[in-house]
Formats: sequence, C-alpha cells, structure tokens
Amino acid sequence: MKKPLQIMKFGGTSVGDASCIERVVGIIRNAARESSVAVVVSAMSGVTNRLIEAANESRAGGDVAVTEIFGQLRKRHDEVVMALIHSEDERCRLKRKLDDLFAEGERLCQATIVVGELTPRTLDAISGLGERLCAPLVAAALLEAGIGSEAVDATDLVITDSYHGGAEPRIDLTRVRCRTRVTPVLQKGIVPVVTGFIGATEEGILTTLGRGGSDYSATILGAALDADEVVIWSDVTGLLTADPKLVADACTISEISYGEAAELAYFGAKVLHPKALRPVMQIGIPIWIKNTFAADESGTKITPAGPRNARGVKALTAIPDAALITIAGVGTQGGRKGLPDAWARTVATAAAVRADVLLISQSTSHNGICLVVASSPAKRTVEALRQEFSQDLVCDRSECTVFDAAVSVITLVGENMGAASETVARAFTALSGENVNILATAQGLSDCSMAFVVPQQDMEIALGSIHRELELAGLPSNRRPVTAAASPSAIWNYESEQASAD
Ligand code: ADP
Ligand code: ASP
Ligand code: MG
Repeated sequence: MKKPLQIMKFGGTSVGDASCIERVVGIIRNAARESSVAVVVSAMSGVTNRLIEAANESRAGGDVAVTEIFGQLRKRHDEVVMALIHSEDERCRLKRKLDDLFAEGERLCQATIVVGELTPRTLDAISGLGERLCAPLVAAALLEAGIGSEAVDATDLVITDSYHGGAEPRIDLTRVRCRTRVTPVLQKGIVPVVTGFIGATEEGILTTLGRGGSDYSATILGAALDADEVVIWSDVTGLLTADPKLVADACTISEISYGEAAELAYFGAKVLHPKALRPVMQIGIPIWIKNTFAADESGTKITPAGPRNARGVKALTAIPDAALITIAGVGTQGGRKGLPDAWARTVATAAAVRADVLLISQSTSHNGICLVVASSPAKRTVEALRQEFSQDLVCDRSECTVFDAAVSVITLVGENMGAASETVARAFTALSGENVNILATAQGLSDCSMAFVVPQQDMEIALGSIHRELELAGLPSNRRPVTAAASPSAIWNYESEQASAD
C-alpha cells in the first residue's frame, strides 16, 4: 500500500545547532516509519538576519564587517559538520559545498561594495544563502543516521514571479518541477531536504518568498505534491491563544479552522507565515503546528472547517509595530469626488507599493480615511499617498494631509465575530479598565476578526487584560503547553530587516 506523504518543515530554532539537528533527525526517523517524508528547512536561527546585515554593510562599503560576519557564519556551520559528521570523506564533501556557497556570498557582497548599490535581486541571492547552507547539513545528518536523503535546492522546484523579497509562486510550473524532481526521489524511499524561503524565476534567478517564508515553501510543496499533511515544526506547542512571549498563560488550541489560522497569521502570529495557508485552502490538506522540543505534545491541527460548534473568540494576536496613516480632508466635503473615490484611490495606491492594508476605516474627526500598514512599507506608502492626493491638497473646505503614527494592532480572532458583540464589548471594557486608548477599530472582511489599534507602549498590557477578561486560557478545548517556547527572543516583524530572532 502506498504510504501517505508528509511534508515536515523545520524552522530556524529547530535546526539552530548540532544537537537541535540531531533531534530533528529523530523526529524524521519516526515519521518515515509510516509515511513518505519530504523535509523543508529554514536557515539556522539568526543566519538570515546576519546575511541581510552583511548585504547592508556591503552597500555601505563595510568590507571589514562583511568579512567578520562571513567568518562567524562559517565557524557556526563548520561546528555542525564537525559535531554531526564522522566520516572524513563526507566532512570534506560537505566542507567543499560550504566553501562554494560562502565564496558565492562573498563575491556578491564584494560586487555590492564595488558598485555601492544593493539591488533587491542581490539581496535575495545573499539572504537566501542560509537555507542553501542548512539543507546539505540536515541531509548529511540524516545519511549519518542511516536514513537515505538528498539536499534539494528549491530554486529547481519553486518557480515564482520576479518580485524579489516577496515573490509569488507559479503553482502550475512548480507542480511540474516537483513531480519531475522530487517524486522520483520519494519513490526510491529517499528523504528530500528542500531549502525553504527561496525559489527562482523561470529563467533561474533566485527569489525569496518574504521573511519567515519557509512555512509558505512547505505548503507550496504540500500542494504541488498532493501531500496528505504538512507539519510545521517550531519552538512552540502549536498555535496558542496568544504569543507566549507576550502572554504568559497562553494555551495551545487543539484545532482551528483555516480561516481563523490565516487571520491569526495575517495579524502577526509569527509561528505561521501570513500566506502559508493559501496553497492548501482549495485542497484541504491538514496543517499541524508542533514543537520540535516537545515532539510528543500534539500541537494544533488546522483544518478547513475547524472544530464543530466552536464559536467565539479563540485567540489574540498583535502586530507590535504598525503605522496608522491618516489622510485628512478627503471626505465628503473635501477631495474631488468625496469619500468613495478616496477609498478606492487609497487602497489602489497602497497596493501599487505592495503595502498590505491591515485595516482601513473612516475617520470622522479628520473627515478622511485611516489605514494601518506594517511599519516597514509605511514610509513608501505615505510618500505614494501624498503623491496620489497632491491635487487635493487644498480642498474646498479643508486641507488634505497625510500623516502617520507608530501603533500596535491587536486582533481578536474567532469564527462568526459579527455575532460576538458581547465578547467584543468585554474586550473594550478590559482595555478601558487599563486606561488603554483605542485609536481605531475594524472588523475583518471574513467575519473572523476584530482589530483594535492601540498606542505601541500599551500593547502588552492590552493583550494580557483581554486574554484574562475573555478567559481564553480556560476554554475547555485548550491545553497548557508542557514546554514553553525554546528560546525567548525579541518581537519580530515580517518585513523588518532588523528582525532579531531568525
Ligand atoms: P520558526 O523559526 O520555527 O519558523 P518562528 O520564530 O518563525 O519559528 O515562529 C515561532 C514564534 O511565533 C514563537 O516562538 C512565538 O513567540 C511566536 N508566536 C506569535 N504568536 C503566536 C501564537 N499565537 N501561537 C504560537 N506562537 C506564536
Ligand atoms: N530564514 C528565513 C527568515 O529568517 C525564512 C524562515 O525562517 O522561514 O526569514
Ligand atoms: Mg518562522
């Protein structure tokens, strides 16, 4: 009988050092007893950030810093080779592979130093090196443990458009590549170890799927290979009722719907990339989130419909650093055609600079529009909006201006949010009890979320108080994780180049 196919994705912390990789080998060995397994790996924790740092240093001409970063990264990867691989031949083979990849990275940085310009294409080529360094190490560790394996570069599999830094997969082409390159490997009982985060255009130019994109790689592969399930192995026991780094008594949610999980991911739950559910939405493959450091705990199952009869708020999430952009004076009295026209132009302008609008609402006080975007595209969004509305600058009765403020977005997530008005009122009460000012609110289009914008400094207190007030830790289907997050790290944001944890 044909074995079911499981895609197993291991994040940066899960492959952070030799002992972590050994743990991962054990998890794969267990799964491979009953399933065919394809593995997707991130770069070792912290490596992508360091590579981006090297790229930025190169642009600034900092060759000493670049050499230092590559030296440290080399040492870290060599340590893993020495700890995990015992055959001298295999060590030499791996070291030659690492030599080639580091030489490629240094050449790219040198070229950047010479021209003093860092293009998005070069940044992708540099930042994608971490996964290309990690996959051969994990494949070699599997071989060392007697498990047939092969490192596979996703540039051969995941075909994308050419939007560097946030490329979109072309699923049909990707499916063909996966079936030609990966299916035969699986049929031989060999475990392919695929680089997460990266892909390539049809012409073979390396692209990246955006920060945290290895989750997306795993579901793209899951869809392309018709997998039976995708398991995202991370440093937390599943999707929790809130980020455990921000809310100490957050609990694991046993099962949750695609819609709810997608909303949590979109509004900041870093454990799942915001786009990760897209490839599987149509086909209904279950996604699990599990803890590499507590592999026996069952984690969270994400299914098309979620658990039956479970309605109401399930979890809270936060985007710590967002920008609240206000376009004042374009309402019904100002602007050329009034508000409907201004809304359409606002959304189109944000889309043109690839800024995801997290929330948009009418601002009666300013006779205009408020929108919230992540902090990293904020500057380009404000500039584009100023440009778009430049003709409206002096309106009949008010002046049209665009300004922004640093805020956090807190989102309540659960099915049927429209009917949960009493719960939402309790959340408001909790916030007013803590004197937290609500700057804007919006209900998600999917009826699955309700977002509040609060001042940045109040985010943690707001999360804690709503979590307590709604008694999310006490919901019968939730469990306290036995193991907390493996490595507390600073808060991260998807597009930030200063991200701290990965
Ligand atoms: P990986 O390196 O495995 O991809 P990430 O660091 O990207 O892991 O994501 C895991 C982190 O996501 C956790 O350590 C946790 O702090 C954070 N997180 C945020 N919100 C949630 C949530 N609702 N449930 C679980 N983890 C969350
Ligand atoms: N290594 C990449 C990053 O840090 C991708 C990932 O971890 O998913 O963004
Ligand atoms: Mg991640």
